[in-house]
Amino acid sequence: MDCHVHSLFSSDSRTTIDQLKAQARPITLTDHYDIHARQGSDFRFNPTAYFEQLLPVRDDNFLIGVEIGLRQEGDREIRSMLEDYPFDFVLGSVHAPFDAPTKHDFYMDQTFLGMDQLAAQTYYFEEVLRSVEFWPEMDALSHLDYVIRSAQAPGRELLIEPCTDLIEAIFIAMVDRQIVLEVNTRRFSQASFLSDWHGLLKLYRQAGGRQVVLGSDAHSAAGIYRHFDQVGQIIRQYGLERVYFDRRVMKKW
Ligand SMILES: [Zn+2]
Ligand SMILES: [Zn+2]
Repeated sequence: MDCHVHSLFSSDSRTTIDQLKAQARPITLTDHYDIHARQGSDFRFNPTAYFEQLLPVRDDNFLIGVEIGLRQEGDREIRSMLEDYPFDFVLGSVHAPFDAPTKHDFYMDQTFLGMDQLAAQTYYFEEVLRSVEFWPEMDALSHLDYVIRSAQAPGRELLIEPCTDLIEAIFIAMVDRQIVLEVNTRRFSQASFLSDWHGLLKLYRQAGGRQVVLGSDAHSAAGIYRHFDQVGQIIRQYGLERVYFDRRVMKKW
């Protein structure tokens, strides 16, 4: 099950539901729901329209999730949406600082400009920890390596060792809240991907993590399941189990 796929309900994808259904492999749709995301775009779908279109085509191989931008702002709106609509899966992502008051996104803006890599990572992981503590209702945490994906990132490979305490604190907070780690394969084509994820999964396992979800973060039908074979080997090496969520219940995959 590819647990991280976008459609035209996300502002940065034009992929239709028909195209996603036509590729036939099991996926969970996770369109963006970000309060105050990037400048110039509304990264929020209308949940009523979302479910009107998706529920008639939902089946065991086509589940309905959401990628929530985890921030303090808009929490009531998001929490009532999660209660009111029958999501299969809630994926949480730290795209912006936890309490940023205005439009903001690490991917595009200048947050990391002038920081060295350790400072940027420390800043990012501290925001992740605050977000995990504030959002216990998410099922999985997405792309922990997002700090490297930012346009302004000062490095291209995670520094795991100097951030061990902070990463461990994130994983312990996740395990306490039964939040599963996502292995996001979007960066797999970069050389550092393997060593980054070896480092992260080792710490996740040590902190008591036992399950992972896999997500391609595809914004087109062609990107679905990209690099899953290689990631499967690493996951087995650390004794982790692949899971997905169906009506918010964890299932083995
Ligand atoms: Zn994301
Ligand atoms: Zn995404």
